[in-house]
Amino acid sequence: MVTEARAAEAVGRPPPPASQDIALIELVDICRSFGGAGGTPATKVLRGVSMRIDAGEFVAIVGASGSGKSTLMNLLGCLDRPTSGQYRFAGQDIASFRVDELAWLRREAFGFVFQNYHLIRTLDALHNVEVPAVYAGMSRADRHSRAKELLTRLGLDGRIQHRPYQLSGGQQQRVSIARALMNGGRIILADEPTGALDTRSGAEVMALLRELADAGHTVILITHDRGVAEQARRVIEIRDGLIVSDNGEVQDKTEPPASTAFSASAASSSPSARADGAGWTLNAQNFATTMAQGLSRSASPWADMYEAVQAAWQVLFVNRFRTLLTLLGIIIGVASVIVMLAIGTGTQRTVMAKIASFGTNRMYVTPGGDTERGPGGTLSEADAALVAQVPNVDIAMPFFAGKTTVRAANVDVGTRLWAVTEEAPHVLNWNVSRGTFFTRQDVRTLATVAVLGKRISTKLFGPADPLGQYVLVNNVPFQVIGVLAEKGATSGQSNDDDVVLVPSSTGSRRVFGTANLSWISVLAHDLDKVDDTAADITRVLTEAHHVKDFQVYNQAASLKAQSEAQQTLTLTLGLIAAISLVVGGIGVMNIMLMTVRERTREIGIRTATGARQTDILRQFLTESVMVSTVGGVLGIFVGLAFGLALIFLGVDLVFSVRAMLAAFGCALATGLVFGYMPARQAARLDPIVALASD
Ligand code: ADP
Ligand code: MG
Repeated sequence: MVTEARAAEAVGRPPPPASQDIALIELVDICRSFGGAGGTPATKVLRGVSMRIDAGEFVAIVGASGSGKSTLMNLLGCLDRPTSGQYRFAGQDIASFRVDELAWLRREAFGFVFQNYHLIRTLDALHNVEVPAVYAGMSRADRHSRAKELLTRLGLDGRIQHRPYQLSGGQQQRVSIARALMNGGRIILADEPTGALDTRSGAEVMALLRELADAGHTVILITHDRGVAEQARRVIEIRDGLIVSDNGEVQDKTEPPASTAFSASAASSSPSARADGAGWTLNAQNFATTMAQGLSRSASPWADMYEAVQAAWQVLFVNRFRTLLTLLGIIIGVASVIVMLAIGTGTQRTVMAKIASFGTNRMYVTPGGDTERGPGGTLSEADAALVAQVPNVDIAMPFFAGKTTVRAANVDVGTRLWAVTEEAPHVLNWNVSRGTFFTRQDVRTLATVAVLGKRISTKLFGPADPLGQYVLVNNVPFQVIGVLAEKGATSGQSNDDDVVLVPSSTGSRRVFGTANLSWISVLAHDLDKVDDTAADITRVLTEAHHVKDFQVYNQAASLKAQSEAQQTLTLTLGLIAAISLVVGGIGVMNIMLMTVRERTREIGIRTATGARQTDILRQFLTESVMVSTVGGVLGIFVGLAFGLALIFLGVDLVFSVRAMLAAFGCALATGLVFGYMPARQAARLDPIVALASD
């Protein structure tokens, strides 16, 4: 059918039957102006261009610099839309195409070759050539072999893994031609392809384009150089946005192209032959169906994902330093959240444990006035009995404490001696592990019985059973009736388990020889009323003594204050951690924004080679999510390592899995949110603007 059209054309383009007279490309009165919005004067660059290009033609558009050639080519390649006029591709009005259809057209129909090559700097030659095929959904293996084959045919087999900066201009241009051919390159749009090349490289590139034209590709060449333009079969001259001459009518038709027109894939001898056989032949009749099929055929989401991760890894690796900086921000954020919360929870736990061991409802009444020179009063057991009468006081225990030497058989041990009542286990929150504690009866009868701390028991009796044995305290023999449970805690040089407990009566009369208490231990009933209770105790004792020669210590209040201070500290630490996480997040956004700005040209290149908006969005989003995921995981590890080091140094830490998950979640969310905005901005970029940026 197409061959018939060619034959018909050869006879001097008689009007063919209507159904076959559909041009590949037809421009009708195309205008393109720039600016005009916001008060700036509009520049009319194209002022009514009409032309028709048939499949298989080799056309040069020639004109002075600034005459609108590039503008025209961007319109032809569907990178830009006209201000007015109609562009029909295979008979279809481009204006009616959706963005995805335009992307498909760029991908499948066009191959761009630019003056400054427009290769992606982070990719090597092979991957640059593969880009259009990635968006076309070609399988990895096919892509690889086809790209390699193309590069080899273009004489670049030794440069496959070179990045653009490692290639000469001529080589870069050949890579970009290979890229243009990757998806078939049915229409090659070359904008000043030799403009930046030396004469020899330029001649090579022109020879290649001629070869492609001979093989059946439609080639549209843009140049300001008449000598270059002469090599095309048809030359269109443009001046100030208008076509001033077109030798299309008089071109030599005696030499038909080597293969059927638009079916570049059929020319197996040309470098464009598609190894995967996925080529398609275009004519006006089947164009719509071909496009519909092409649009419905897409790679699986997993393959897309894999591609995106691969590409993201590539970019992150090439920009290692920047990636490292971003990672650092996230790692510090996540790790500090984990460590700070662990420190906060750890110290809180210490305070809680202290509160639990002291009991918050404990108070102490000690003898002595407010100042050193104040009344030096004393406390007696009668005072303890008075305090016991105060409302909300459960127990008021007289307490004698002192140091003494205890002897068993021939062992002498210095230790603390506490003379207390039968209520001591309750007041001290400390029970016997063996034997019994002394009773109220023992206290009343001045019984000479003793309960030993675990450590003192071991010191005196070794592993032997101390129960029933006698110890000498101040030459008074006491019978051991019980051993206290081990506390194991050490404060200062004294050990909690280094203590001997005897009845208060016996202790005061037969050991200490005084009725003056060391202090009164008070156990309040209701914690919430301890402040009132303290005031009541003060009042009652002041009445009895006629002077305030004692102190009431409210342990509960001080612990409460301590715990509150602790909570404030935890909150502050958490806040600092959260701030560092936010700062990390802002760092990610900053770098993503910078990345987008820096890579605007790459986005333009990707769009020109057929990327959809979703492809661009996915790519940038993948990059930021990858960075934040890796950063989050590393942050957890760094936090754990740092925390373990602190634990090793004796800091009390409590790691929380919830805090870790939350910190990681925050990092990921930051990546998603702060990555999404620049990514969307990138995806929406106008391809022309993107391509023009540097
Ligand atoms: P050529 O490729 O023939 O040298 P161009 O098509 O690049 O010329 O540009 C033609 C004219 O259009 C120039 O004067 C240029 O300043 C103007 N022009 C091109 N692109 C834009 C744009 N995006 N905004 C404003 N003016 C533009
Ligand atoms: Mg130009």
